[in-house]
Amino acid sequence: MKVLVVGGGGREHALCWAIRRDRPETALLCAPGNAGIRDMASIVPISAAAIDELVQFAERERVDLTVIGPEGPLAAGLADRLRAVGLAAFGPSAAAAQIESSKAFAKDVMAAAGVPTAASRPFAELPGALQYIDRHPEPLVVKADGLAAGKGAVVCATRAEARAAATAMLGDRLFGDAGQLIVIEAFLPGEELSVLALTNGTDLVVLPAAQDHKRLLDGDRGPNTGGMGAYSPVTLETPALLERVRDRVLDPALAEMRRRGTPFTGVLYAGLMIDGAGNPWVIEFNCRFGDPETQVILPRVDGGLVDALMAAATGSPLPPLRIGRQAAVTTVLAAAGYPDKPKQGAPIEIPPDLPAGSLVFHAGTTRDAAGQLRTAGGRVLAATGIGATFAEAQHASRTAAERIRFSGKQFRSDIGWREIARRRSS
Ligand code: AMP
Repeated sequence: MKVLVVGGGGREHALCWAIRRDRPETALLCAPGNAGIRDMASIVPISAAAIDELVQFAERERVDLTVIGPEGPLAAGLADRLRAVGLAAFGPSAAAAQIESSKAFAKDVMAAAGVPTAASRPFAELPGALQYIDRHPEPLVVKADGLAAGKGAVVCATRAEARAAATAMLGDRLFGDAGQLIVIEAFLPGEELSVLALTNGTDLVVLPAAQDHKRLLDGDRGPNTGGMGAYSPVTLETPALLERVRDRVLDPALAEMRRRGTPFTGVLYAGLMIDGAGNPWVIEFNCRFGDPETQVILPRVDGGLVDALMAAATGSPLPPLRIGRQAAVTTVLAAAGYPDKPKQGAPIEIPPDLPAGSLVFHAGTTRDAAGQLRTAGGRVLAATGIGATFAEAQHASRTAAERIRFSGKQFRSDIGWREIARRRSS
């Protein structure tokens, strides 16, 4: 079987690794990949944004399954284009990908489906937004409607902060077109949890839940990032909670997408807030695997992955997945200057003596002409630790992150602290 993975970040490295592990005989291709993916897949030098070229390549190579990693090509219709030429594509149509690419669309779907979420209103004009903010209780959240690389949501403790955020987005065009519409919503208290489900549009199979750390610095301080680390399992994920998530969130959202004539297939990612009574509220939907959540979720899937991806892509009944009991923790290593202005080109040294149970997923890396590995992006690597216990996984991840060297390396040494605190208090 020939599988093409589209994308070149840590998520795609984890996807390639997991596909290879599940089906060692697969002919694996990755466009455009990165320096780590090169060791396990044939690199196809086509950008994930070059839709025409990707479709031509997949047709010419008779690719059996294309797994689309990032949201950009999904929103641009790559899955539709592949299906139009009779090829299997894992990922939603552009119409269904709006569940991520437009927060106002997602809110509309949730309202129609009765999915619990924060009360909100969309605004295209600054004066109306400012008036709304002036009457809104604190804290509140201001979000760019469109895709902003996970950085388009600003949690504001005060109305003054919210006014500044709305002005930056609608007035100063901080996020360009992605912020020409904004959504202002109520702040939801609780604990965040990411629940991802593979779906053929009707049936779904839930993946192990994960929790991520979005802030740059230890203690969940500092600026928001694309994600500095993640872990799985999360003790919040009880069978009772999962049942609520299926009944109140995932099933109704999929039913509403079918009702609209745009069924959602691929992986539906529900970013949830779990309130004190154990009820799930949706913060956002994503239309693809999370990064870095994938780097902890897929190492816990011990079997059935490729069959499930294929079933989701082709609308067939979903086979069960085998989920392991091991824990996984991933620590992201970011470049100097991340998230604002990451510096590129620093030589990277990955020592051979990384702890047992650690896996290094590449994100922003490249090899220069002399074969030296160098930084080539904001998030450079993700060091995943896998262990029989959460503490073992956390230790392996942190130790690997400490031992890998490049100038200006930034990483958090406390990934998983919330889980440790929960386990202590229970
Ligand atoms: P988003 O880009 O929508 O995932 O938001 C990024 C982060 O902002 C989330 O992971 C939450 O930590 C926080 N956030 C977004 N919306 C809300 C909300 N309504 N209430 C509380 N926190 C939120």
